[in-house]
Amino acid sequence: MFESLSDRLGSVFKKLKGQGKLSEKNIQDGLKEVRLALLEADVHYKVVKTLIAAIKERAVGQEVLESLTPGQQVVKIVNEELTNLMGGANEEINLGGGHPASIMLVGLQGSGKTTTAGKLAVYLRGQGRKPYLVPADVYRPAAIEQLTKIGKELSIPVYPSDTDSKPEKIAELARIKCAQEGCDTMILDTAGRLHIDDELMAELGRIKATTPPSDILLVADAMTGQDAVNMAKAFNDAMDVGGVILTKMDGDARGGAALSIRSITGKPIKFIGTGEKSNAFEAFHPNRMASRILG
Ligand code: GDP
Repeated sequence: MFESLSDRLGSVFKKLKGQGKLSEKNIQDGLKEVRLALLEADVHYKVVKTLIAAIKERAVGQEVLESLTPGQQVVKIVNEELTNLMGGANEEINLGGGHPASIMLVGLQGSGKTTTAGKLAVYLRGQGRKPYLVPADVYRPAAIEQLTKIGKELSIPVYPSDTDSKPEKIAELARIKCAQEGCDTMILDTAGRLHIDDELMAELGRIKATTPPSDILLVADAMTGQDAVNMAKAFNDAMDVGGVILTKMDGDARGGAALSIRSITGKPIKFIGTGEKSNAFEAFHPNRMASRILG
């Protein structure tokens, strides 16, 4: 994950580590490399600009801590600024505001939404919750089958949706059934399209209005880089999502999406998907991600 970015930054900082003192000149040279590495990693140029300015302001003229070499100190500043850029701390999923709680997953087709519904259910079960899966993509019978199969494999109950019902009706009835089944957290897998369109947003809006969710999580494919960021912005503008789940972080994504999403959309990444298996899923921690990126 992020190999190109961490390799690039690693060699930049190796050069800096050899410096006894940090001057404005060698900080400049180092930051130029950092800037290039971030741009190559597909981080949005505006984000890079803000980040470099913040790092520079802190690095130049700062007294070097005795315990650190100047190079280590710059690494520390970059690490902290990357962490801030991604939101500082982990933001937890919101499970409040209704019994049962309801999590709405939204996103484009192929982003990993259905797989993620299963993963999130397993994760929440590990936290002592009783999840209930609800397929609400009525356009693709295969999508209902896929989630039903996932639920069976994971021993998690699934609402028996049918393609003749309206998604908002499914959400409403499923919530009642969820409580009847003794479950406390319903996970709604909504329809996806290949592209964002008004009709989809209207449908998602109706589900949101009839069954107000505790949280709306946008599922975005990290492999699509800048497109994932633009898509996240469009979804958030229309739906006011509560957070993002970035999938396929095990792939050779260059890291741009993870670094840009928070500052472009204002919404936190709450979880990442790191593989196809149901346990390849973890809470997103900006500081851990920053350390991973810096190698
Ligand atoms: P949906 O159309 O959004 O519901 O997408 P699916 O859940 O069907 O996933 C599309 C493809 O992405 C499937 O082949 C999944 O196995 C795969 N996938 C989902 N999440 C991840 C992930 O975190 N890592 C990897 N490598 N593959 C994933």
